[in-house]
Amino acid sequence: MRSERRRERAEAGVKARIGMLCRMVERTPGLHEGLAAGGAGDALDRLREIVAGGRFDADEATALLDLVDEVGMAALNLDGVTTGSKGYRPLPAGLARAESVSAWVCPHSSCGRVVTSGESETAPDCTLGPSRVPMAEYRTSM
Ligand SMILES: [Zn+2]
Repeated sequence: MRSERRRERAEAGVKARIGMLCRMVERTPGLHEGLAAGGAGDALDRLREIVAGGRFDADEATALLDLVDEVGMAALNLDGVTTGSKGYRPLPAGLARAESVSAWVCPHSSCGRVVTSGESETAPDCTLGPSRVPMAEYRTSM
């Protein structure tokens, strides 16, 4: 079952990167247009299809995300459009031990974006779905 585990890890990585792209597009005015103008338009269109469809091939999605990163660097001088300039960040310290957590999660299953209630007071929109849909509230009690 080793290959199954590898596939799951690859898919989790893709979801995290799509989530980062979703966040970056919202935070960076003109990013989507700039990436498209730089040559990543087709890759972004395909990523939107993947987000809308919910299922994806991790190798294909990784190649698309790599292309978006390359164009972001080459055309816009932006490092890590889909990975974050500081690389992967784990949950803030202490969050795992909180008694309850509320956050918004992307309604699209292939987008791993999570916005905690401390980051935003209203539901953010998913920027990559077929139409802009608000993120869904997620509450958990531990
Ligand atoms: Zn999203």
